[in-house]
Amino acid sequence: MITSGSDDLMQRARRVIPGGVNSPVRAFRGVGGSPRFIASASGPYLRDVDGNEYVDLICSWGPMILGHAHPQVEAAVRDAAAKGFSFGTPSENEVALAEEIVARVEPLEQVRLVSSGTEATMSALRLARGYTGRSAVVKFAGCYHGHVDALLAAAGSGVATFALPDSAGVPDSAAHETIVLPYNDIDALRAAFEQHGDRIAAVITEASPGNMGVVPPLPGFTQALRDITTEYGALLISDEVMTGFRCSKAGWFGLEGVVPDLFTFGKVMGGGFPAAAFGGPAQIMERLAPDGPVYQAGTLSGNPVATAAGLATLRGCTDEVYARLEVVSHAIADGAANALSAAGVPHTIQWAGSMFSVFFRDEEVRNYDDARAQDTEAFGRFFHSMLEQGVHLPPSAFEVWFVGAAHDDAAVQKILDALPDAARAAAQGDHVSHAVTDSGVTDADETLPA
Ligand SMILES: *Cc1c(COP(=O)(O)O)cnc(C)c1O
Repeated sequence: MITSGSDDLMQRARRVIPGGVNSPVRAFRGVGGSPRFIASASGPYLRDVDGNEYVDLICSWGPMILGHAHPQVEAAVRDAAAKGFSFGTPSENEVALAEEIVARVEPLEQVRLVSSGTEATMSALRLARGYTGRSAVVKFAGCYHGHVDALLAAAGSGVATFALPDSAGVPDSAAHETIVLPYNDIDALRAAFEQHGDRIAAVITEASPGNMGVVPPLPGFTQALRDITTEYGALLISDEVMTGFRCSKAGWFGLEGVVPDLFTFGKVMGGGFPAAAFGGPAQIMERLAPDGPVYQAGTLSGNPVATAAGLATLRGCTDEVYARLEVVSHAIADGAANALSAAGVPHTIQWAGSMFSVFFRDEEVRNYDDARAQDTEAFGRFFHSMLEQGVHLPPSAFEVWFVGAAHDDAAVQKILDALPDAARAAAQGDHVSHAVTDSGVTDADETLPA
């Protein structure tokens, strides 16, 4: 496969963009090698600048649930763009998108639109602190909520102690308001609340974590989050930026049904454009400016083109689309399991609705420590074999394999055909050369996504 066009672009990029990329995972540090520069995409396919075609299992990390350049979404975007790009005053699309979201997720009364998932979680956190008058927040190791200072925190040595910064540039003061706990551990949660309950403004959790690979809540865990936060007067923030409108019409909430105080959304609801949201009952949301004292704003919030794309995407997410996601996901996951088993590669596939990931270890993954115990080198060999055969997986062992309704039978077959060779590569360790090109540096924490 010729990749000289991508390689040249990466060299140019490195001069003017740190690491050559605008979001770290794209740099392939988790798998070695150098990324492909995409020139165009349609349906389930990406085409790179050298003319290579790939079945896409990144789907822009979730948003392209209907496939790339979906005709109805494209028409909505063209139509909106022809009427102007941004007004800085209210417009109807914002109302229609908010109505669509509120209609799908039953506990929601109001949402505020923002431009990224990071902004949504950052704003939800501020609202929770403003509402409760408390400052501490609980998050779970391995859950990613965007690059918010307070949420880029790693667990301290003791379970119920305040955290340490997980990134340079995050002040201790920001991380010290964060308690990081192991996921799926109700005892640790209870212990943290017993010690610090009167200071905790909120627990933020991925509705069903997908950023350490798919690690669904064990039965009763989300309900325990709900019960304990209620008992101590803290808010529960369910981060559905990844799961929202993907796991079901109403996201993970639609499957599990535990009602949080605040939701955050992004990815699918922007249809590939910068649109995200946070929301909850009016009684909490009314604390936001201009009605209330919690300030939050955005020049491009509710952008008319982005909201048009989001609205067309959500309206396109019909029952048939969700049924197709199920079929496609299971076909791919079954194929992967069969190929890996045949090659003798340890693996575990985990699910949240139709969202799945493949761990390269043979035991159930219940938390971040379990996820990190997988064989990331085997994944790297697997990844590069798939890429060479025209299937673009996410370039990290800690990611969902994202599918869309545009993955037709031909695209699925191309994936199935590539799996046996990739599984053998994973087993044999004969593709290591890919891992030492590039700078040879691997990320200290390769699970930090996007
Ligand atoms: C992607 C993601 C975010 C961050 O969204 P951005 O739009 O990248 O800022 C937050 N939370 C979760 C669960 C995500 O998957």
